[in-house]
Amino acid sequence: MLKTRQSLIFILLSIVFSILAVVLLGFGLLKFQENSDTYLLSDILASGFLCLLLSLFFAYQHKRRLQFKLALRYLSVTVIKCSNSDCNFREERKFKRGDYVFKEVGNCPKCNSPLLIESIYARPLRK
Ligand SMILES: [Zn+2]
Repeated sequence: MLKTRQSLIFILLSIVFSILAVVLLGFGLLKFQENSDTYLLSDILASGFLCLLLSLFFAYQHKRRLQFKLALRYLSVTVIKCSNSDCNFREERKFKRGDYVFKEVGNCPKCNSPLLIESIYARPLRK
């Protein structure tokens, strides 16, 4: 719940800063055409760019939190099966980096034939 609210705050901040950036940069360009005080102009443009950067930063934070949420909702599972068709040994374990389908992962504890990864899937986690 807290994570959802945090990511909502990040996207709202991102939107606010992007609007500020557009307003400041637009205002700055307008003043630029009028050839008015350049001191003030550079300040306006600088704060416009700062708002743009902040907006991108918050958008990135929002994206990261969203990925974190998705990762928590699913568990990657690796299914291992014995290569001997007469043996029905089958095992499921958490996905490990480097796992791929048809990879050999040791020997069967029942018949000593090579064990192969049969499939990899994402299992939704229950609450
Ligand atoms: Zn076996």
